[in-house]
Amino acid sequence: MSSLEKLNQKDFEEVVFCNDESVDLKAIISVHNTVLGPGTGGVRFYDYQTEEDALNDVLRLSRGMTYKSAISRLPFGGGKSVIIGDPAKIKTEELLERFGDFVNTLKGRYICAKDVGVDSKDLRVVSRKTKHILGVEGTKNSSGNPSPATAFGVLQAIRALAKELLGRSHLDGLSFAIQGVGSVGYDLAQSLHAEGAKLTICDVSRDALNRCLDKMSPKVVSPEAIYDVKCDFFSPCAMGVVINSQTLPRLKCKIIAGAANNQLATAQDGYEIENKGIFYAPDYVINAGGIINIAEELLGYDKKRAYDHVAHIYQTMIEIIHRSKKEKKPPFVIADILAEEIIEKGRKSKAKAI
Ligand code: NAD
Repeated sequence: MSSLEKLNQKDFEEVVFCNDESVDLKAIISVHNTVLGPGTGGVRFYDYQTEEDALNDVLRLSRGMTYKSAISRLPFGGGKSVIIGDPAKIKTEELLERFGDFVNTLKGRYICAKDVGVDSKDLRVVSRKTKHILGVEGTKNSSGNPSPATAFGVLQAIRALAKELLGRSHLDGLSFAIQGVGSVGYDLAQSLHAEGAKLTICDVSRDALNRCLDKMSPKVVSPEAIYDVKCDFFSPCAMGVVINSQTLPRLKCKIIAGAANNQLATAQDGYEIENKGIFYAPDYVINAGGIINIAEELLGYDKKRAYDHVAHIYQTMIEIIHRSKKEKKPPFVIADILAEEIIEKGRKSKAKAI
């Protein structure tokens, strides 16, 4: 399918190609949907093999943000941007400032934030040129590092799943296999450990493992062996597409609930999980804590209010479990339906107001 066909098929509102050879900038900003608010999502700086790969990624990610924001009841639509190239080689203040200029040309229809390859310092440079930016650490209204809020949200979903699917109001004694104990995985592991859960962890980084071993006493397995761990919860907190035709037959968990984005390789894998009797908690529903926390900057950041909002992930998870049982559809399908219902309601009330 050509790129233009893809754009039409998924109803993207606006895709902007940004070029400035003088600073080596090549970027794409995608605004998927602004029914509920400005298209909001991080800027990813990545060395894509081809421009087609970059376009595919920004389209997929911006569409994902539409669903994540809708289901989290945020006043945001879906947007995302990618800067093409190796950040270690081409990232300069001039390039980042020029990118900020391009964000500005969208006049607030796109709001950017941090993503892979962009750190807090970079975001501050972009913010010199645009005010359509959130999550700039070190500023007065900053919501700070989003990872603890993301981990808190995943924990709320796990509580809901334990209660509804395992009949457990406490997590003590339940077993978890956590893939990746970086920013989110570590915070999650700490909370689960504090509640008496049994942990098995893996990571490709020795430092990340040591940080856990210093504070808890988890069992450590190799990254490849994590899929074979018999457990109540498998929690992917590293990379995407980890649930695929190779890993699925190996999984011995009851529930999959983790922070990683885009865990399912294909929708078909979502149905296969269902056939295996494993419950898959939709990633974008349960990892939304970070964006919910950032969104609070719009109102003047208040940590308590932000975390109260993140805690709603518990109710959303319960709603998805109930509807999934009642409508006999997998949870990832129900999550999409729920998000689309919220967007449609927003569309109708907008039309009424005009
Ligand atoms: P991170 O980079 O801090 O941690 C990821 C960890 O996974 C690292 O310790 C890394 O060494 C490890 N890892 C990488 N490849 C691995 C492999 N093959 N096997 C095992 N471990 C491996 O990232 P993070 O911020 O904790 O995010 C984790 C995931 O959650 C990512 O997919 C991210 O997109 C998603 N996410 C994060 C946030 C957030 O607020 N940080 C929000 C939403 C979604």
